[in-house]
Amino acid sequence: VKDFLPYGLGDFSEQILSSPGNNEVRCYVKDCDRWLKPPRRGERGTVCPEHGITCFHSSSGNTVGYRDVRRNMIASPDLMATRIVGHPFKYESHRLGLERSEDALTWNVFRSLQEAGQLAQLAQRITGDSCGFQPYLMLWGIDCSENTFEPWDLLVQGRRRFESRLPVDRPFTEPDIAIFLPGRYLILIEAKFTSFNTAYHRGPRKNASSLTLEELINIYADDQLIILDRALATRRERIYYQLWRNLVFAEWMARQDHPDTKAFHVNLVRAEQDEESAAEFAELVRPEFHERFQRWTWEQLHQLFSPEPKLSRMRRYLENKTAGLKPAFRLSRNDSKKGAAIEQC
Ligand SMILES: [Zn+2]
Repeated sequence: VKDFLPYGLGDFSEQILSSPGNNEVRCYVKDCDRWLKPPRRGERGTVCPEHGITCFHSSSGNTVGYRDVRRNMIASPDLMATRIVGHPFKYESHRLGLERSEDALTWNVFRSLQEAGQLAQLAQRITGDSCGFQPYLMLWGIDCSENTFEPWDLLVQGRRRFESRLPVDRPFTEPDIAIFLPGRYLILIEAKFTSFNTAYHRGPRKNASSLTLEELINIYADDQLIILDRALATRRERIYYQLWRNLVFAEWMARQDHPDTKAFHVNLVRAEQDEESAAEFAELVRPEFHERFQRWTWEQLHQLFSPEPKLSRMRRYLENKTAGLKPAFRLSRNDSKKGAAIEQC
């Protein structure tokens, strides 16, 4: 059964072998004796004919990429390959075949939850709303609910409201994940896998596509919004800007939907990752709305759905998942048959 998962723990050799000058590496899959050219700037590298991967090799670490993006997916691989890859709304879809792709991880987990009918349960844990209706799922602003893969109209409106006159040329706000039940709740999730939350610091613009801290606070603002404390933000030395934009968008979009729709923002990270940045950002949320911003871990999702038989494949995927060929998550890897998830100490 393991053959149907992307390569993970136990599939890669313990030892990385490279030729003098690092022009070639031996395929990273255990017991494979092919020698491959790693991708380099401007060169694609060779693909192992047995395993369909290229092997990246650099001082910053080793990782693999699949020639066929479907091989990196555990849920609806054909839909991903034909409807998401190259979608004009999706930035950087060419990265979806990479082992370290946060977007591939996102698709695999949230598409699995959707197909297993478990999104309402997750939403209940985040919002406390127990109405039980299955919510819509939007990934990168694309509606994945009915397989229409249309741009999400509320997000398009939000971009028009806040981002039609940005002072620099930069990508629009693209929430990784949205779970939305009209009239009830709207959850935007900022997912992190091998990268970390990033901040703007007080002072001049850092590069041609960044905003200043003052611009962030002034552009992503609306008199209707009450969850974030803007006055407090203006006195801060730094602000985690993706979190700021996502919470502004969540609240504004929820209000556009219905006065009763509650906005939530979740920062989904790995265990022990981004604890400080999330805690610092949470200080900007007015106390009466403290539950509207939450830090969750991928490991918690594994644990939350550990009793669900329809999600055994997703759990095995997370247990085996690697980042840079090393264990990606703090999960026990022997208890998957029992459905238990015990954090390693
Ligand atoms: Zn190979």
